[in-house]
Order: sequence, then structure tokens, then C-alpha cells
Amino acid sequence: MIVFVTRQIPEAGTALLKEAGHEVRVYPKGEIISREELLEGVKGVDAVLAMLTEKIDAELLDAAGAQLKIVADYAVGYDNVDLEAARSRGVAITNTPDVLTATVAEYTFALVLALSHRVVQGDRFFRAGTYKGWEPMLLLGNDIQGKTLGIVGLGRIGMQLAQYAAGSFGMNVRYYDVRRNEEFERDCGARFHATLEELMPHADYVSIHVPLNPSTRHIINAVRLKLMKRSAYLINTSRGPVVDEAALVAALTDGTIRGAALDVFEHEPTPTPGLTALENVIVTPHIASATEETRAKMAELAARNIIEVLAGRPAPNAVQ
Ligand code: NAD
Repeated sequence: MIVFVTRQIPEAGTALLKEAGHEVRVYPKGEIISREELLEGVKGVDAVLAMLTEKIDAELLDAAGAQLKIVADYAVGYDNVDLEAARSRGVAITNTPDVLTATVAEYTFALVLALSHRVVQGDRFFRAGTYKGWEPMLLLGNDIQGKTLGIVGLGRIGMQLAQYAAGSFGMNVRYYDVRRNEEFERDCGARFHATLEELMPHADYVSIHVPLNPSTRHIINAVRLKLMKRSAYLINTSRGPVVDEAALVAALTDGTIRGAALDVFEHEPTPTPGLTALENVIVTPHIASATEETRAKMAELAARNIIEVLAGRPAPNAVQ
């Protein structure tokens, strides 16, 4: 059967598909596939291995044709997919959970540390040739030990992050989620808040780990940013549109909060005007899961889902 892969991925995934006897067509250019090329590329294929940069909607599913059986998203967040359109056409949709959890939690914690200890500012300062020798008051940051981490969305990544923070780093963990997890609260000493309004004023760091859906779009807005401590930081490695980025730029500019670290953007890849000019922001290009190990595991997992479905078996990571 034919599998269309919309971007070069680690060999581990394409090798599995070939071993299973499938014809693998990989989009050859090293850039995001255009909509026209995507609609052309999926024509007549049995499976699509897609990136989060591709919109999987009714138009695309119809362009592929009735023989299409699965779209395997190369991501855990599947907000790029119209699930109803897939359901009504009998196309399985899968994602890549678990294999990236530790990596994204590590990366998020790296941002917490980098913000607190001003690592990126220090690098910029040094490269600018401004460093004239040790100073007692140069680029003072803050310790994270004993501080409170507020987690918005205590799922796989949120829980892993909580464990890192409460474990070796001695942070207090509070969280908000639509589902309470009392077992985790006991194990990790985490404290639950039933609303974001309750959580925000307590946190020195607010880190967001919810999926993007209608209930989470702009969950962080101007009103909620005002509830944060003026000394607090916001970290977002989930999806850009969960934060009202214009409101965040305003809050960072007028000192409503102290700083932010963003791996994802509301209008990716374009930042809101003013954002990258701010000294108190770390911005990275959506690389929270980008390690050699994890990207290979994601490729294998997406391939295994395709292999199962094309063999007539249920998808291990079906999202619906
Ligand atoms: P998960 O499904 O395990 O956890 C999500 C949590 O959010 C769940 O506990 C859920 O109950 C909670 N939630 C959902 N809607 C909510 C709401 N309205 N209010 C409060 N809580 C709500 O997902 P995960 O594996 O932990 O991944 C989380 C997200 O991280 C993904 O959806 C993805 O968008 C993002 N992500 C980003 C990167 C990156 O490269 N930056 C990498 C991996 C994942």
C-alpha cells in the first residue's frame, strides 16, 4: 500500500514502513509542504504521515480518496485535524503520546531554569562584548528552590514536569486541570485548584500543558495575566493560541509579570509585533520535543500505527 510522508522524518519510521512492504513517498523538499502539493501528494494513497503544520480537513481527506485509511499525526497535539471530518469518512487519526513526555518536560524545565538564572540574557550580554569582568550585582536572577510552580493541565507532560520540580529542585507544585488527580497529589505533594483564578496568584512560575481546543484557546488572557504576581514568569510549550499573545506582550512591557519563555506562538511562525524586542522573553522555534532519541521514537510510533491500520488491525494510538 502507499504511504505519503509530508516531510523528511528520522529513518527509523520510514524503514519500518518499507519493511512492512509499503511504498513510502516522502515529500522531498526541506520545507513545509504547500497546500497544493499536499492535496496532490495525498491523491490515491492509503495512509498519510502528517506534521502538525498540515491542516487535515474534509478537503484533504476527499482529495486523498475513499481508499485512505489513516492519517498518523507526527505529534501528540492533534489540533491540526478536523476529527469529525475524519470520523465521518472512517479515517483513523493517531498521535504520538508518551514517547515525547520526558523530553518536553525536560525542555520546559530548561526554560524555567534559563528564565530564573538569566542564561539567555547572559549569553546575549557576553556576545555583545559588554562583559568587563565579574560584578556582584550583574544579571541577578532568582533561585527556584522553595518557589511555586503552577501547572495548567496536569496530563502526561504536566505530571512529569511536576515530578522534576518537586523532586530534586524542591519546588512546591500547584495545578489546575478539568480533572482532579488525588493520587498524584498524594505522591507528589501537589495542590489542586478548581479554577485558574485560584491558581494564578500563588504561582512564581505558570507553565501551560493543555491541548489546544475551544476550551483552552486564550485560556491565558489579559485578565488572568493580571492575577499573576508581578515577579512571576509564564512558560508555554503547549500550543501558541492558548495564550493571547498581544495581551502577553502588553503584560511583559508594563511589568504586569516579570518574564516569559515561549516555544510556541499564536500565529506561528510569526511572533506578535514587539515580542522579540523584549529583553525579558525567551523565544524558541517549537523544539520542545526535538531530540534525536525522541524524534526517532515518534517516527517509529507513527509508522507502527500506520502498519497496524493497513493490516486491518486497530490503531494503538487512535485519538477517537
Ligand atoms: P495530555 O492529554 O496528557 O494532558 C493534557 C491535560 O490538559 C489533561 O490532563 C487534560 O485534562 C487537561 N485539560 C484539557 N482541557 C483543559 C482545560 N480546558 N482546562 C484545564 N485542563 C485541561 O497531553 P500531553 O501529552 O501532556 O500534551 C499536552 C500538550 O502539549 C499537547 O496537546 C501538545 O499540544 C503540547 N505539546 C507541545 C510540544 C512542543 O513541541 N512544544 C510537544 C509535545 C506536546
